[in-house]
Amino acid sequence: MKNIYLDNAATTPLSEKAFEAMKPYFTDVFGNANSQHAFGREAAKAVADARQTIAECIGAKPSEIYFTSCGTEADNWALKGIASQLKDKGKHIVTSVIEHPAIHTACKQLEKYGWEITYLPVDGQGFVSARDLENALREDTVLVSIMYANNEIGTVQPIGELCEIAHKHGVLFHTDAVQATGAIKYDVKELGVDLLSMSAHKFYGPKGMGALYVRNGLRIEKLLAGGEQERAHRGGTTNTAGAVGMAVALKDAVDHMEENAKYVGGLRDRFVSKVLERIDDIYYNGAKDNSKRLYNNANFSFRYIEGESILFSLDLAGICASSGSACSSGSLEPSRTLLAIGVPIGTAHGSIRFTFGKNNTVEDVDYTVDELVKTVEKLRAMSPLYKKN
Ligand SMILES: *Cc1c(COP(=O)(O)O)cnc(C)c1O
Repeated sequence: MKNIYLDNAATTPLSEKAFEAMKPYFTDVFGNANSQHAFGREAAKAVADARQTIAECIGAKPSEIYFTSCGTEADNWALKGIASQLKDKGKHIVTSVIEHPAIHTACKQLEKYGWEITYLPVDGQGFVSARDLENALREDTVLVSIMYANNEIGTVQPIGELCEIAHKHGVLFHTDAVQATGAIKYDVKELGVDLLSMSAHKFYGPKGMGALYVRNGLRIEKLLAGGEQERAHRGGTTNTAGAVGMAVALKDAVDHMEENAKYVGGLRDRFVSKVLERIDDIYYNGAKDNSKRLYNNANFSFRYIEGESILFSLDLAGICASSGSACSSGSLEPSRTLLAIGVPIGTAHGSIRFTFGKNNTVEDVDYTVDELVKTVEKLRAMSPLYKKN
């Protein structure tokens, strides 16, 4: 039985290296990193080293890295922390329509509490327009939050350029870089962003570990009130093993970024060209220019059939892909991102995201293409919407 994992945007397996590095912190070195004794100091040293490594990977200073429990927490903290810090300046935030639920839902929550949110549209390939952003900024705008790379269609935004526009108008800029971190080389100082979120399990690190970069000098209200951890910015006992695993995984991703991009991107390109060659009536969603698209991402809409049926059939053939949206828990809402790029509602329902990883092989790609061709033919043959011409 095949067991092919093509859902690396949802999560990646923990790397052996990260796992090995984490092990001592579950057993012998169990101290609380905030305790003032030998056990605590040993844990604190590991956390400090991890913070240093992560900072170096993104061009930040260690004092600008705050550990969180996940990417979702980092996103919520950036939005709500700045909203609350700057509430006397204004209550307007600008974001995009294609943000991950960690941003989108947090914005919906802020609306309930009296903030006004502008959701910028995107073009047919998922890009936010600089002009739209500029037009949306107001006197009372306190924050712009635009994701670096989209989790469904892989579109990579020109973050540096968008950030510059926000700053020109005196507005802070946050980016959800959860999909970009480890995949794209960036430097926070060159980008100019004020805040940036990341999550370890998207780059072969442990689940339940994230970080928020907060530019030095920027004041942000805390999200988790508690002890004095994270330099009194985030209460909660530090996840020592998580911090260590996150640092090892990120360093590994950054050190091997080019070769991973080449290898995984090659698999994705092979997949996309074979699928387009062998299956009619489909759309390849997202950025057409590969330099503006995550190298692991392929997203297709298959006309006349349901994505859920394709996924089910692929799953039976041992292939794990995704409907590429928060279509979770049986919700039949089509993807907000696909609708935003102009995919018609019916077609959006027939969409699948394939995200490749470094553990995939050429054989995985070829087998998946063959199974996908068979599946689509079979389902279309049964579809009342599909007329053979
Ligand atoms: C996965 C993901 C998140 C959430 O990160 P978690 O660590 O799973 O909470 C946020 N934004 C994007 C773009 C993601 O892909």
